[in-house]
Amino acid sequence: MATHRTAASTAPITYTPAGPINGPTFTCPRCERVYPYPPDHGKPVRCECGWWYTNLGHGRIIEEFRPRIGGAATSGPEAAAGPASETH
Ligand SMILES: [Zn+2]
Repeated sequence: MATHRTAASTAPITYTPAGPINGPTFTCPRCERVYPYPPDHGKPVRCECGWWYTNLGHGRIIEEFRPRIGGAATSGPEAAAGPASETH
């Protein structure tokens, strides 16, 4: 009397780093690196240059600048250093 049913399995998703990109691609407008297009409401594209691109669906991409920890100081005297303050 054992009705052994296997549950409907979802297709496995394999993420291969640095593999060939199949399907649509997203090009970072800041540094022109090419990534797989971020899925709707899915994981954002995290570009090497520090910008994140999140797909809100319907082709809407929001851009956020999230530098890596320690990448950009937000306090302290060094944070104010800009191109105009060259004091070599
Ligand atoms: Zn970039």
